[in-house]
Amino acid sequence: MPPSAVVIDPQFLKHDPGPFHPESPERLRVLLELAGDLEGEGIRILPPRSATREEIGTCHSGQYIDLIQSTSRANRYALDGDTVTSMDSFGTALLAAGGYLRLLDAVAQGEFRNGFALVRPPGHHALRNRAMGFCLFNTVAIGARHLKRHYGAERILIMDWDVHHGNGTQDAFFTDPTVLYLSTHQFPFYPGTGSIEETGEAEGAGYTVNVPLPSGCGDAEYLEVFQRVVIPIASRYEPQWVLVSAGFDPHRDDPLAGMRVTEQGFGAMAASLLELAERFSGGRIAFLLEGGYNLLALKSSVATVLQTMAGEVKSPLPVQTGGVKIDALIRKVLKIQEEYRQKDSRSRRSTY
Ligand code: ZN
Repeated sequence: MPPSAVVIDPQFLKHDPGPFHPESPERLRVLLELAGDLEGEGIRILPPRSATREEIGTCHSGQYIDLIQSTSRANRYALDGDTVTSMDSFGTALLAAGGYLRLLDAVAQGEFRNGFALVRPPGHHALRNRAMGFCLFNTVAIGARHLKRHYGAERILIMDWDVHHGNGTQDAFFTDPTVLYLSTHQFPFYPGTGSIEETGEAEGAGYTVNVPLPSGCGDAEYLEVFQRVVIPIASRYEPQWVLVSAGFDPHRDDPLAGMRVTEQGFGAMAASLLELAERFSGGRIAFLLEGGYNLLALKSSVATVLQTMAGEVKSPLPVQTGGVKIDALIRKVLKIQEEYRQKDSRSRRSTY
């Protein structure tokens, strides 16, 4: 069995949004330690490469890429209130996107069974023409476009479990039925998008699924959403690839958000997506680091996910519950999606 890949590199320390910023280089420092500890038979390090301007251009305008490039002339440049760059940020963001593309190619070619890109800055808030929420380039969206262009992928699932809604990713594929965007996030919360009613438009109608959760949800609530919404809808879609925007800010110790997920919860969510990938996409699944701002929680949660990916642990059934009632919310999401899923199976029948 091929090993799992971890894309990581000390160069990811070089993007520096300044002292006291939660998205600090320290996040990568603890993950470099972890990768060193876990590296072995089942988990191998894969070095990143830089994305080309053309690859970034599949999701961002030339003018926007020029703007980000121009920030490398200043020690510190504030793109907005919380998205701040240093001289090396443009280069680091190219390496983050390229690192993910390298991972997708390595998995496509069977060199690795699956993988996790432990890169920064994160990407899922980045819009075509606008940086926001610590994000410069939308790495997962660039990854999906890469799979479409180079491998002819027609059904790509992007699962986004970061505690914030991935508005940039949703926006990139809002009218595109070849990418199913599924998000669990705290709501109402930054960035304000991600309501149940945002379900895609035109050809893409029904291929955006938002599960806006109240704060306080723990492992049990997240797993209930996975069992009743994520896995059934994703299975109906029959994804050829599974991409995961894996943020660890739903963790109970995270300083920015109000969820109560534990390491075991993340392990169980990863296990359920790994199983989905086995069933539909030949095991092809590529995780990408988004948020996660408590260093210890980040390190131990990524460890659990990596060990689950490498088949080294069967994560025990989580017992932590947030005690939040989400049954009505789940029913509402399913009701809205029901009509679309019928359309989904009709179009699938015409494909075969
Ligand atoms: Zn986040």
